[in-house]
Amino acid sequence: MLNSGSGDSSFTATGGAESENAALGSVHRQAAIASALATIAGCLSPHVAAMRRDCGRLEWHAVRSGRHRVRVVVWTCSCRATVYELCVSGGRAFIRRTVQAEPVAVVCETAWGSLREVWQIWAALLAGSFR
Ligand SMILES: [Zn+2]
Repeated sequence: MLNSGSGDSSFTATGGAESENAALGSVHRQAAIASALATIAGCLSPHVAAMRRDCGRLEWHAVRSGRHRVRVVVWTCSCRATVYELCVSGGRAFIRRTVQAEPVAVVCETAWGSLREVWQIWAALLAGSFR
């Protein structure tokens, strides 16, 4: 599992330190805490942006990774019908797309590429430049 996004759990209760600006500071602090809580209560994983007009098309193939040990490094939020995962295996990577549908999810994958290549595609996918 990727251990990220959990670094904000260190809110400290404020006791003393009263000054002219304390009230204002506390408002800011509460706003920060409220937005942090909203994030925690909502979605933790990123969503893909809406497709851009000049959106490129990735080629999606039937699953070929079945016999490989694959590590999912990052993924998009499962609140959306379509979930994307960046998968790594033996120094190579690909993106897996799962469309959560009834009765069974439909899974496809991109071709395998170098980590660098696939991370670039991943970024473009999240930004809505590729689908
Ligand atoms: Zn979500």
